[in-house]
Amino acid sequence: MTASSLRDSRNLRTLMRRHLPAKIFNRLQEIGVLAQSSGWSAYLVGGLVRDLLLGQDNLDVDIAVEGDGMAFAKHLADRHGAGLKTFEQFATAYVVFPDGFKLDVATARRENYAHPTALPTVAPASIKDDLYRRDFTINALAINLNGHAFGDLIDYYGGVSDLGKKTIRSLQDRSFVDDPTRVFRAIRYEQRFGFRIEKRTLRRLTEAAATDLIHQLSGPRLRNEVLWLLAEKDPQRTIRRMATLNLLRFLHPRLALTPSLRAPLANATKVLSWWNGRFPDRPVDRTLVFFTSLVHGLSASAVDAVLERLALPNRQADKVRRVKTHLAPALRVLAKRRSSKPSQAYRLFAGLPDEGLIMLAAQQGSKEVRPLLSAYLTTYQHVKPSLTGNDLKQMGLKPGPLYGKILDRLRDARLNGEAKSEADERALVKKIAKL
Ligand code: ATP
Ligand code: MG
Repeated sequence: MTASSLRDSRNLRTLMRRHLPAKIFNRLQEIGVLAQSSGWSAYLVGGLVRDLLLGQDNLDVDIAVEGDGMAFAKHLADRHGAGLKTFEQFATAYVVFPDGFKLDVATARRENYAHPTALPTVAPASIKDDLYRRDFTINALAINLNGHAFGDLIDYYGGVSDLGKKTIRSLQDRSFVDDPTRVFRAIRYEQRFGFRIEKRTLRRLTEAAATDLIHQLSGPRLRNEVLWLLAEKDPQRTIRRMATLNLLRFLHPRLALTPSLRAPLANATKVLSWWNGRFPDRPVDRTLVFFTSLVHGLSASAVDAVLERLALPNRQADKVRRVKTHLAPALRVLAKRRSSKPSQAYRLFAGLPDEGLIMLAAQQGSKEVRPLLSAYLTTYQHVKPSLTGNDLKQMGLKPGPLYGKILDRLRDARLNGEAKSEADERALVKKIAKL
């Protein structure tokens, strides 16, 4: 859409009706009617407004209310038998309708930062103030939902013009100092939409990135931003941009986008689409694949430092560590092509989470490993010996570390077709344990 056609479409009712699912459109109308009758004003704000103008799908409904947003959210929830969760302290709420549809409601507010990187204190304010505290002009647009004004576009800060010019522009000079997460957010939109960061904004961004402000962000806040960048459609680009702007140092001083990272990152995208097509019932954490790839070149202790800095939840951190431990040895074995027997393939892959298997294929580079991976995932992984520890005990073996070894050998024998029945397994146990 061109800048002028955007400027001409100040009432967006038609665009909304055309682009939004009917369910959402109707809900927005109901919200407008309810706000009108309560004497408040409700606005659609945030990414959905931007994406509507860009013609991009987005179903995240954010409502800002001039007035008592929390009372309004309660009202809305009561009326529709919806679930409600309010965070009075932040004047935000989310409403979950009986059909599962969710939306966020917030009281329009002004923000005050006690010091850089602090979470702001908030005070109720006008929609104009509320839009002014936002990160970039393209995210500072709103659509009025009330009665006759339904669909009116609200654009105090030149957001429509910047959308037309494909520009990311801060609203305030202090923006990145007040909230350095915006450094990452700027890259997110720049890369997602193929926009440019406006000159002055880029200067302020670089200045903030040259300080230690980002170091002061809490682990979870920094983690979210970084992982969101890796969750974008083309993580290679967002990683490259982080590297150019010298931001990788905030994860670890030695983290860099080395040439050796490029091929695995490029391959990861291809392996992921192969995996999703081949194993649709086995979804993987795509973002974690890119994150792990990014930090994989670091030493084990440096990887630990990154995990700690970002306070990565245990479940994900464990996977990253397992990849760090098992991927390189697996790649070495693969390079020597010694994995001809199923049991060898099994042992090669067993220590890796699915995300690590994808990295293995991506690092290895050729498609040759795919059939082996398929065999592992569909067959080898499910093969178990018939005998259990209990059986070994009944056969007169003293419980101990030997049990694990014997059971592994039995599984190997099953995998390789050397043992085909429980009797075969018993015979093998006798041989191994010299019974
Ligand atoms: P996405 O499509 O990536 O979700 P979004 O614009 O919806 O992008 P959210 O993080 O969901 O972004 O936030 C919703 C809105 O809240 C933004 O459009 C922006 O107006 C505002 N916002 C979010 N984070 C910040 C921030 N750190 N500083 C200022 N405004 C913010
Ligand atoms: Mg959003």
